[in-house]
Amino acid sequence: MATKKFLGTQTTCPYCGVGCGVSISHKNPADPAAIAVCGNRHHPSNFGRLCVKGAALSETLGDRGRLLRPYLHGQATDWDTAMSFVANAFAENIRKHGPDSVAFYLSGQLLTEDYYVANKLMKGFIGTANIDTNSRLCMSSAVAGYKRAFGADAVPCCYKDLDRANLIVLIGSNAAWTHPILFQRMQAGNAKLVVIDPRVSATGELADLHLDIRPGSDAALFNGLLNFLAQHQYLDNHYIQQHTNGFQEALTTARTWSLQQTALHCGVSAKKLLAFFQLFAETEKTVSFYSQGVNQSSSGTDKNNAIINCHLATGRIGTAGAGPFSITGQPNAMGGREVGGLANTLAAHMTFNPDNINRLGRFWHAPRVALTPGLNAVDMFRAVESGQIKAIWIMATNPAVSMPEAGRVAEALRKCALVIVSDCVADTDTTRCAEVLLPATSWGEKNGTVTNAERRISRQRPFLHPPGEARHDWQIICDLAQRLGYSEAFGYSHPVEIFREHARLSGFENNGRRAFDISLLSDIQRQEYDVLEPVQWPVNQVNPQGRARLFNDGRFFTANGRAHFVPITPRAPLQQTCALYPLWLNSGRMRDQWHTMTRTGHARTLLDHSEIAEIQINPQDARQYNIEEGTLIALNSAQGKMSGRATLSEAQKPGQLFAPIHWSETLARDARVSALAAAVVDPHSGQPEFKQVPIQVEALPCSSYATLICPDIVAKKLWQWLHSAKDKNLLHWYRVPCTGGYRYELALHHPLNGRGLGTQLLGDIHGMHWQQIESLKNQRWVVYNDTLQLLIIAGNRWQDLPDRRSLERYLEMALPRVPAKLLHPIAPGVKIICTCMQVSRAQITKAIGNGMHSLAALGNTLGCGTHCGSCKAEILTLLRTVHASTAEE
Ligand code: SF4
Repeated sequence: MATKKFLGTQTTCPYCGVGCGVSISHKNPADPAAIAVCGNRHHPSNFGRLCVKGAALSETLGDRGRLLRPYLHGQATDWDTAMSFVANAFAENIRKHGPDSVAFYLSGQLLTEDYYVANKLMKGFIGTANIDTNSRLCMSSAVAGYKRAFGADAVPCCYKDLDRANLIVLIGSNAAWTHPILFQRMQAGNAKLVVIDPRVSATGELADLHLDIRPGSDAALFNGLLNFLAQHQYLDNHYIQQHTNGFQEALTTARTWSLQQTALHCGVSAKKLLAFFQLFAETEKTVSFYSQGVNQSSSGTDKNNAIINCHLATGRIGTAGAGPFSITGQPNAMGGREVGGLANTLAAHMTFNPDNINRLGRFWHAPRVALTPGLNAVDMFRAVESGQIKAIWIMATNPAVSMPEAGRVAEALRKCALVIVSDCVADTDTTRCAEVLLPATSWGEKNGTVTNAERRISRQRPFLHPPGEARHDWQIICDLAQRLGYSEAFGYSHPVEIFREHARLSGFENNGRRAFDISLLSDIQRQEYDVLEPVQWPVNQVNPQGRARLFNDGRFFTANGRAHFVPITPRAPLQQTCALYPLWLNSGRMRDQWHTMTRTGHARTLLDHSEIAEIQINPQDARQYNIEEGTLIALNSAQGKMSGRATLSEAQKPGQLFAPIHWSETLARDARVSALAAAVVDPHSGQPEFKQVPIQVEALPCSSYATLICPDIVAKKLWQWLHSAKDKNLLHWYRVPCTGGYRYELALHHPLNGRGLGTQLLGDIHGMHWQQIESLKNQRWVVYNDTLQLLIIAGNRWQDLPDRRSLERYLEMALPRVPAKLLHPIAPGVKIICTCMQVSRAQITKAIGNGMHSLAALGNTLGCGTHCGSCKAEILTLLRTVHASTAEE
């Protein structure tokens, strides 16, 4: 038999900062979109593994939902007309109001080459630093913390340290869900896992020790640890003397934090705290692994430094299996940091000092390098609101969902004189605010580099042609630059030319003073760029193969080469609970979703785990507020409101709730968790305090529910009806995409008038037929011509509505000869736990009842947990729960 030729592409996953290598193979050379995705076995970030999101990447390809051509004032137009309009508007605003009247808001999804030209244009040629990025929302406190301690935004660790560590302390990180491939590496090694988190997350479930500290008390905990290390002679005095400054000041501040006082302040037992302190003190190879739970705080930078202080005090930095490891959320947050994507930084790790401004001006031959930092994300959208910024270009991100006070941000964008959005997705909360829409290429079409959380630069390679009229972001930015008169500086014809310049700038007059240095790649040729292997910066004469760890020589990027201890006085969250808002809301990611679901929301299998915003609440609080499992609830804060479905969980402490960050107004009513958060920020980093939001909770007064299935064309009308509905009967809705259309779920005060709604939606479609069945439990309507147009099933309890997955299949099949068959009852729905192998909670529970008492046994029998492994924590919880209930019996 002839061997088929392998047509493959090695690229990088576009979702998170782990930066997994992905192998693409074409199933059918005649159909470029028919691809198979698997992990790249040779990529050092994942060695062939992918989490459920990466494994479902092929489901997100295709033109459905794509922005395929430019739009101006809501009308389709051509590129030349759209870009002339944008360039004239920018030029006019700059001429009349100065360069600070315009702004760019970028994204950690952009490739480094896109990011580089956007920064060069804004900071070098337009002459303003009003360019910030959504990375401000997730890791700017980590940047500020590293800079204060090391004099550079430089992550000292690498993923191998997770394999080599004997202790990994996860602080404010639910890595089992947010960075699943790294979490599997942690589990595969010998390290003990300590989780510091107010709630019992999936990661906490699998920890050796879980410290459920009071929200926001992390800095006190690490002050207490520093004090303990000093009291019990665990300090590395040689390292402190030779390589650091400021130890005594930091220790003096930490001295007040005795074990007892720290335990009291953090709300954990002194015994548990002592166990952690001793474990840390006695384990040389300790990695502290931290994320948004630390950063998204009004004192996030201090928390970072409190952690780093403990590593400096023990000399645990730059050595195998040890170090303070801030993990990035986005695929190219690190690339953005390299090029100066934040408003307070310049390219190639330069800061706004006269030497650097001069240096950058000479390198770029730039006429007007920005002299001072620009507005960070929160201040930028405030300036849009006040009219100070008159034109803003938002690239590849969705601030109308993700910014704190999201409702206010969306309103400011709607009122702004000019909002330009370049994106690959047509319909988001933010695109709906735009005057100009520009179609951008997406993953699979883009060509360039990204840098992951361990400083590893990997290639994103194209394997699909851009659809419609989509263009690469760097091309769109260069088009604007050329129309503004900067053709010479922006005359790139391929991303390798941008990468070369980026590499050259990193080494320009560097002389070992700036951490980011990839100058050895300055002359990279296109063929070399095409086959570039993943490599960790710095890549220079000293480190020609890259470098796994930084600071192993004890030299830092400060003026005297020593690291700085920072004295930390813990501060309470700026937002505080009160009589009106007595509960704390914590927020974070779900296992199978990413950001605002503009991509993962199209992959049907990824919605099996959770198709609506599920809000966790402790059973005790639930009783107090008359909330049952599955009740639709509303959260209210001083800033806004959010709705979702209650999940009763002992993982939440009484008085604390948890809600996911992903849902938007495009997908559901009142779905944005960010609408609840006040725009209060850390004074050093400008990062908003998302993790501690005071709220109140109430059950929505729903007494009727309806499931609607319809093809795309009817779904569009339904969506418009829902968004314009003044109908007070409607309390909540959300939607789920499925093959051939959508499923909508409605919650109402009173029973739905299905006939009335159907007539509103379909009244103008010729030759429509109706069938209707009513029973005590529910009412059913089906509307069809030669295909199914609308199926409505309504009832008084959402639990009684049929298995929704089965209903969705009606859209894929031919209309039955007797269409009324579609109204026959189907059993109520199932909850999928293992998305990869499609194994439900009921199947797992039944198997446990039949004697499968381990993860391995369940995996062997049902296959659950054997693929990406993201569901293991939930399976273990089921094992424990079923065992406990059996034992009680
Ligand atoms: Fe993608 Fe998952 Fe890897 Fe993150 S962990 S890069 S989402 S496959």
